[in-house]
Amino acid sequence: MLSDRTRLHIALQKSGRLSDYSRELLRDAGFRIQSGKNSLTARVENFPAELMFVRDDDIPTFVSDGVCEFGIVGQNVLEEFSAERTDLGYEVLAELGFGRCTLKLAAPESMPYEGPASLAGQRIATSYPRLLARFLRENDVDATIVTMSGAVELAPRLQIASFICDLVSTGATLEANNLRALDTVLDSQAVLIRTTRPMDATRADIAAGMMSRIEGVLATKESKYIMMNAPGEALKQITDILPGAEAPTIVPLHGRPGNFAVHAVCQESVFWETLQKLKAAGASAILVVPIEKMMM
Ligand code: ATP
Ligand code: ZN
Repeated sequence: MLSDRTRLHIALQKSGRLSDYSRELLRDAGFRIQSGKNSLTARVENFPAELMFVRDDDIPTFVSDGVCEFGIVGQNVLEEFSAERTDLGYEVLAELGFGRCTLKLAAPESMPYEGPASLAGQRIATSYPRLLARFLRENDVDATIVTMSGAVELAPRLQIASFICDLVSTGATLEANNLRALDTVLDSQAVLIRTTRPMDATRADIAAGMMSRIEGVLATKESKYIMMNAPGEALKQITDILPGAEAPTIVPLHGRPGNFAVHAVCQESVFWETLQKLKAAGASAILVVPIEKMMM
């Protein structure tokens, strides 16, 4: 397995909130992954890469050490790893739009809170001691950090701490534990990272190929192909309205002199509002279609 050193190694969460989305992203980028969740590695059948399934907490280390060239991990885990570190060993290539959550302070409903100053002298339980320490430092507050590896939301009830600092997405867990969300310490989503350790030319080439495919997938998520008909005098205004579109294609309509078909790739979301504006400007027969693949 490791003798094949030209393969790229990509670290993904083995099982958890990021694993399905991470696999889906690679699949959308055209990588055929052997199925089966129990093995620790899987080869990509049609690309010189191998996936390594690990705990999310280990992903920054693997990429930073160069054991894996790429990894997908939450910013929360990544920033906890990097806080207080100077040589990071990785760079963030893209925000992936999934695994969104927020690292938040929370406390029992009855606990008074009027901003970070209320934390002074208190005990705060968290699995993110470095991020919490950074937050306290930035707000110039002294408090005691109690590090727990899980079940942080139980800390107030167990009287281990009066505040907690934990990941929240819907807030349901907080509510179930009679906790109230307070200030935000970090907004997080999954990111793609690449090692900054040197790669040989062959692998650097493979890595570039992989990146261009993934960028293509990320670009198509937001992008739409938009088509409409319009009279010549409306073209200037229509071009101005199209969100994030460069140089639309404009072709004359057969049998309808002075009328044109306008086609464009919009790099931003196209909302109903935009369609209404286009219609008001003179466009008709407006179609918005998803883009399946794109390479810039
Ligand atoms: P592992 O066994 O890999 O260590 P884990 O228990 O640490 O798993 P998960 O609960 O699967 O991790 O969460 C993985 C990542 O998903 C988190 O680090 C975070 O980036 C993201 N995430 C998204 N929503 C939430 C949420 N509501 N709670 C916790 N993490 C979330
Ligand atoms: Zn973890």
